[in-house]
Amino acid sequence: MKENGSEDLHETSRPIRSFVRSSQVVFDTTADVVVVGAGSAGHSAALHARADGADVIMLEAANFVGGTTNKSAAWYWMPNNKHLRSEGLVDNKEDAIRYMARLSRPQMYREDAERFGLPKWEYELIEAFYDNASDAAESLEQLGAITAYHAKEIPDYYANLPENKTPYGRVLQPRDDDGNVGFGEVLVAGLNRAAEKAGVETKLNRRVRQLVINERDEVVGVIAVLPDGSTEAYRSRKAVIFSTGGFAHNPELRRNFLFGPVFGSCAVEASQGDLIEIASDLGAPLRNMNYPWGAPMPLERALWGDKDDPNVMCMFAPPGDSMVFVNKYGKRVVNEKLQYHEAMQAFQTWDGYKAEYSNLFLFMIWDQASDDRYRGTALGNPISPPGESRSHIVSSPTIAGLKEAIAEKLLELREHVGDFQLDSEFSSTLENTIERFNGHARTGIDEDFHRGDGPIEHYFNSFNGPTRPENDKNPLMFPFDSDGPFYATIIAPATLDTKGGPMTNVHGQILDQAGEPIPGLYGAGNCVASPSGKAYWAGGGTIGPAFTFGYLAGKHAAAAPELSAGVTSQTEITTSS
Ligand SMILES: Cc1cc2nc3c(=O)[nH]c(=O)nc-3n(C[C@H](O)[C@H](O)[C@H](O)COP(=O)(O)OP(=O)(O)OC[C@H]3O[C@@H](n4cnc5c(N)ncnc54)[C@H](O)[C@@H]3O)c2cc1C
Repeated sequence: MKENGSEDLHETSRPIRSFVRSSQVVFDTTADVVVVGAGSAGHSAALHARADGADVIMLEAANFVGGTTNKSAAWYWMPNNKHLRSEGLVDNKEDAIRYMARLSRPQMYREDAERFGLPKWEYELIEAFYDNASDAAESLEQLGAITAYHAKEIPDYYANLPENKTPYGRVLQPRDDDGNVGFGEVLVAGLNRAAEKAGVETKLNRRVRQLVINERDEVVGVIAVLPDGSTEAYRSRKAVIFSTGGFAHNPELRRNFLFGPVFGSCAVEASQGDLIEIASDLGAPLRNMNYPWGAPMPLERALWGDKDDPNVMCMFAPPGDSMVFVNKYGKRVVNEKLQYHEAMQAFQTWDGYKAEYSNLFLFMIWDQASDDRYRGTALGNPISPPGESRSHIVSSPTIAGLKEAIAEKLLELREHVGDFQLDSEFSSTLENTIERFNGHARTGIDEDFHRGDGPIEHYFNSFNGPTRPENDKNPLMFPFDSDGPFYATIIAPATLDTKGGPMTNVHGQILDQAGEPIPGLYGAGNCVASPSGKAYWAGGGTIGPAFTFGYLAGKHAAAAPELSAGVTSQTEITTSS
């Protein structure tokens, strides 16, 4: 099967070693702190290192700043933030950590155990996140990077769990200059403007895949490659902070590290996992490589990918009330409205008897009324409106015809889906599935998958426009029309990005095999190991930690001792002469 990703680019352009000795390098430019990658983690690190007196250069591989953060909805989840407190809400430490521990490592979680059963490293990072999230959020506001909107109407993804004592109030969003709540572009514009104003120099088109290390194996710089293949050497007196995003678009790393198959990502193309190669070369242990930030995605959009369409989206809010996802047997296997990270995991179920991923592709089926009512583009809606491409959608007046249309589509996509085919009984099973679903829709109770039970399902569903006024039982379910036409699209497992990489400590320092910090080397955001294990704690649960660990890394790096390069850089010569 062929997945989306830049394997060729990746394999042909990899440098032989991920580090060079400083004795072999003539530096072009010097700064106290060199930040690599200009997304949420990178900007937070750069802003805070600068605020604490370091001079900072930020190197960015793409020809624009912001990375996947730029594409995001820009929610950032900050436990115990000041806005929450000023509303009189309480988010105490033990309860917040309990919630995160329960979700991150459910198999280890014990309410009465030390650290709730978590390994020490994971506990300490989660604790550091709780302890510093509020300060990081406040500091970003004070530095003029963000004007926050307190989204207290947005529930956590597991607002329903008894362990969640503060189900509302932790999510913040950025406001634009007019006070309107904005998405990623607003967030990044504010961050970058503040960084520029503070004197952080951002250099685009600089991809970093090599470190410079001195004779004591301390990191004292990086080599950046420009699009024309030329290189520049950057000397870091105190630290290099990586914030290069995950490995979502590196199919080789995906295949070898992720728990299950994925077919693409709505992360930016630059999510190539460059730090994974560097860390592997240094012998730094990798953690949490198996769980990505997951989401379903229409297969053809996943294959098309960010490279071809920078606006390509995962499916955050599956539209429609007369709508189901079914597998190759025509059976529902998941609550279609479950938040995306959980829904995606249903695709990866392995049937050990049949030796197949029965749910590898699910088929989103809807009727004409849903097509008329819920067309749109919000949050990856696949029911495209007029004027937008509908080539990923098939339709037929009958269920039997729909089966034929899907089968044809699978054939057309054979290069990507391999021998995956519909079961011969697909049509009759799908008819039964719809009949059963209709029964549940009439009572408003989804006896099979609890559709509509979770508060977040209703929040996301609101992006698809108003639900039917006559549907007072369960607005997320409505009986299918018995008459066609019916519609279908193929949905595949995909990611927002990955969240594994080298281990860091609570200061963002990257650790070696002995658990000791590698001097001069830091990381934050999706390029390093997240302590969230399998979980996506809440909307904003990736940018919140990226901001917080960027904040911690930036501050610690600014206060770090200067490391000797063992050579004199050109800039140092110029400055001193
Ligand atoms: C559509 C969408 C919506 C989302 N909504 C949310 C949300 O609302 N809340 C939330 O918490 N999460 C959300 N996410 C996930 C979130 O966007 C990411 O997890 C987060 O932005 C990652 O931040 P980061 O700083 O680690 O990486 P990025 O923002 O991806 O930044 C990494 C930067 O490093 C650069 N880079 C990569 N390699 C190199 C290299 N070798 N040298 C130099 N530069 C390099 C990249 O070009 C990029 O600019 C969403 C994701 C998507 C796709």
